Amino acid sequence: MGFQERLRSGNPCPRRRILHPVHGSGEALHPSFLELLACPVCHGGLRQEGERLRCVSCGRRYPIREGIPVLLAEEAEGPEGTER
Ligand SMILES: [Zn+2]
Repeated sequence: MGFQERLRSGNPCPRRRILHPVHGSGEALHPSFLELLACPVCHGGLRQEGERLRCVSCGRRYPIREGIPVLLAEEAEGPEGTER
């Protein structure tokens, strides 16, 4: 899949928010569950940022509704507006 390599090369300063969520609301998805998910647009890996899942490849963000990630292209927020 090359996902791990993409994580290393495209993510020089990974913050382990999946394991250490700093937000006060919502629940952290299990890391092994996150590994099963992929961006529906580019098939990149996803990581949790608060109550969203962010594609590490294209930067789209997907909402998490009641603990269920909504991985639909039409529900995605564009990469603009992300902190980096
Ligand atoms: Zn993507």
